[in-house]
Amino acid sequence: MAEPSFAFGPQWQGRCFVCGAIEQQYRTDKRLCQHCKERYRHERFFRDVSDLGSCFATILPQTDAVAEGLLRHGFSDMFLKAGEGDKRPGRLLKRAFPAGMPLPCGQPVLLELKHMAQFAGLGGTWVLDLSPYIWSGTLKDLRSWAVLSLAIEHRINHLALWTAGNAGYSLAKLVHRWNATVPTAQRKTVYSLVDAFASPEMVVTLRSLQCRVAPISTGSGTILSRDQLYHVVASIAGERKDYWQVTDGWDGVGVFMYSLLARQCFHFLRTELSKIRKLEGADVYIILPLGTGNLLLGFIRGMEHVGEGRAKVVAALPYGDHMMKSFEPPDAEPNDRPRMRRDLPEAPKLTGFYSPLSPCLWHLLQDRDFSHVGAVEFIEVDRAAQIEAAARVLGPAETMTVAAEPSALIAFGALKQLAQRIRDHDLNLEHSVALVVNSGFGIMGMKEQEFFTKSIFAFR
Ligand SMILES: [Zn+2]
Repeated sequence: MAEPSFAFGPQWQGRCFVCGAIEQQYRTDKRLCQHCKERYRHERFFRDVSDLGSCFATILPQTDAVAEGLLRHGFSDMFLKAGEGDKRPGRLLKRAFPAGMPLPCGQPVLLELKHMAQFAGLGGTWVLDLSPYIWSGTLKDLRSWAVLSLAIEHRINHLALWTAGNAGYSLAKLVHRWNATVPTAQRKTVYSLVDAFASPEMVVTLRSLQCRVAPISTGSGTILSRDQLYHVVASIAGERKDYWQVTDGWDGVGVFMYSLLARQCFHFLRTELSKIRKLEGADVYIILPLGTGNLLLGFIRGMEHVGEGRAKVVAALPYGDHMMKSFEPPDAEPNDRPRMRRDLPEAPKLTGFYSPLSPCLWHLLQDRDFSHVGAVEFIEVDRAAQIEAAARVLGPAETMTVAAEPSALIAFGALKQLAQRIRDHDLNLEHSVALVVNSGFGIMGMKEQEFFTKSIFAFR
């Protein structure tokens, strides 16, 4: 079974995230821009990877088929709640996704959390809450919506993906609903490839949605090639032509959706801030959790579109293992001064070392500069900061609460350190606003559930 190198419609171009080069048409087999491949070949991290071209992607899809005006419509219409007539989600994005998929995605919420601003010492703190998305209650729903739209457009009935939980749950639930509304011939099957150590709850939940689950033992850190994945799926599904493997090569679709979300949300936030005199034109920092980089890169692309007055993007990482560790030389930090012991937070969705977007992430580390708005800042969050944030975000002492799973809480845990860095750089804390992106509250393993039964509410 071989996935055809699938070419998106003519309204989609491919763009190298790192060097900006534009390719005529976006294809899922486009991995690494030729120019950047040469450039990376000699870098320490990339030198060890023999089959560089097939492991990493830098080419992301882009289209001008979504009018900027649409993104200034306020926050309620586009992303992607149920609507009627011209406001149906499928119609609003119909040039990018011509299938006109009728299923909505739900409604993210932008809200002010005054007590979090007080807690961090910032001029204002807002949350872009993705937990109200109706399928998995996480950021993955937006991506699943785009994937299913494209699959409908191109009559693909079998979709396989690697998942730590939420991505598979989201797509399986959306497809389950889709299947209930269409004739048999249009029904689709989702195959979730999960790690052999995936929690039984997760496997059971996926199976309850008629999702085919294949637990795979990879050993820690092993990357399965696309070919290996095809063999796994072929063994469950048989040889097929109408099949996509929507993990690698499809990150770009997620990045694209998040870039739209970032633009729309930011326009809306600026409007809200302009109503508060002391925050008009404030410096805005967007903090989001960094797992494989889809959300981060989407928001960076979004801010590139915004241009003047854009927000600075801050990536929150769990202290200990995380994606960016792969790029640090082992002796990056001379560590001879005594330090307080820091505990590892509970954030399993952010602790992987592999992302097909690695070259893009690595590139971001090359020009770190806090005072430059276009440079991304990285903040590591330990367990103490995670729990401290959890106590305030989840209540119960506060009336305004947000449903955030442990990995999502890492972003909130970065607020105080962000405030400290603003102070350190003699910037105006009172005129600074943080927008925290809550990636949601999805399917959780036992340890994540324990976090909620044991850890919280040691505060004040
Ligand atoms: Zn490039």
